[in-house]
Amino acid sequence: MDIPPKEMVDYIADYLENIRDRRVYPGVQPGYLHKLLPKEAPNAPEKWDDIFKDVDEHIMPGLVHWQSPHMHAYFPALTSYPSIMGDMLSSALNVLCFTWASSPAGTELETIAMNWLGKLLGLPDCFLNEKNDSPGGGVIQTTASEATLVSLLAARTRALMELAQLNPDLQSSELLGHLICYCSDQAHSSVEKAGLIGGAQLEEAIISDKAKGLVPFWVCATLGTTGSVAFDNLREIGEVCSRHAAWLHVDAAYAGSAFVCPEYRHWLDGVELADSFAFNPSKWLMVNFDCTAMWVRDSTALHRTFNVNPIYLRHENSGKAIDYMHWQIPLSRRFRALKLWFVLRNYGVSGIQKHIREGVRLAQKFEALVLADQRFEIPQPRNLGMVAFRLRGDNALTERLLKKLNARGYIHAVPACFKGVYVIRFTVTSQRTTNQDILDDWNEIKTVASEILIDVFG
Ligand code: PLP
Repeated sequence: MDIPPKEMVDYIADYLENIRDRRVYPGVQPGYLHKLLPKEAPNAPEKWDDIFKDVDEHIMPGLVHWQSPHMHAYFPALTSYPSIMGDMLSSALNVLCFTWASSPAGTELETIAMNWLGKLLGLPDCFLNEKNDSPGGGVIQTTASEATLVSLLAARTRALMELAQLNPDLQSSELLGHLICYCSDQAHSSVEKAGLIGGAQLEEAIISDKAKGLVPFWVCATLGTTGSVAFDNLREIGEVCSRHAAWLHVDAAYAGSAFVCPEYRHWLDGVELADSFAFNPSKWLMVNFDCTAMWVRDSTALHRTFNVNPIYLRHENSGKAIDYMHWQIPLSRRFRALKLWFVLRNYGVSGIQKHIREGVRLAQKFEALVLADQRFEIPQPRNLGMVAFRLRGDNALTERLLKKLNARGYIHAVPACFKGVYVIRFTVTSQRTTNQDILDDWNEIKTVASEILIDVFG
């Protein structure tokens, strides 16, 4: 038996320690890998040396290096040694945590880690699960999109049950046609996928929709939008939802990590009015993908929606312990609590807070550099670790700038558009980013901008 080399651990450590030497954005074209690899799997077993050679020569040059200090695209997708170690152990154990009986420690560690994390964010007690009969609790979902869909489906079940009581003669297919849900116009595309886009004037929209015979049942508030890290007013939205008995889901995919620092918790004001809250430790909290932390006020709403009860999944402690299969869409689930627990323990609260504050400080530094150059502007205020900036003038200038920056591969960023205004999103992603990296990146941007401006205006 060819036992895989322990050198993989060294390979991973070397990769991460030397990440700044790599070009962050690859210079490959679609189909490049098809030309380099065989069309079929090998018949005979291959040696690790040969497999690694292909990783080095063919795979690595075709990757975006997300852990690079020059990665500024999207939002962070950070990893860390405790998280990698948690995932390595979890992969080796490969326990499936769908019921308590299928993995007692896997299930209980998830509840404990989610209670720790909920307290770390300052979430109210109604979202924690510290006693066996607590209705609330936390669960790790795969993605924020999935958490949104889970909350939407749970809210729909709740609304249909209430409607069915009032209208016993109607079929659920008829009742479904009356349901309507809302989110702000800067919500993430995953929310559009999960439901319908609603108006910003929530209460007006709800009242007018009710007058048309519709039943508002679910509202998604966003804390930290994808384009500009803008925040919905949770308290205002929560009060409207309470008045109209609509389920309030809070999507804080990126910004949620910042709530480990008390100075950012003002955006959480009103969270006690929410029915569910989710954010991605897999973004900024250094717990590698996948890991979406989701809390619900009343897990029975999830049970009613996702309950599966075949005899082979029942166990003698059914009902006495959490069976997370009832809290999610798939049946099977990985032991993801391990990497979250390792990160919380190995960094500690102070280490995690320090990491978040450093990300914000570096974004402030970048913002100051941009503001000091009259050729550039920042149309929307910076929040947390993301600065959305542009060259003054036509969108075409900024579009050219971004295209050229990415083609050079030294830094990587993606655009956003606010009401027709094209911007480059510059997110501080890596825990390896230093003051010097920010200065170097800004020099790269200035150099390319000068070339473009000279080319256009002479
Ligand atoms: N919601 C918001 C506000 C986001 O910014 C993102 C991604 O950046 C998502 C949802 C989607 O996250 P996921 O990829 O975990 O589904």
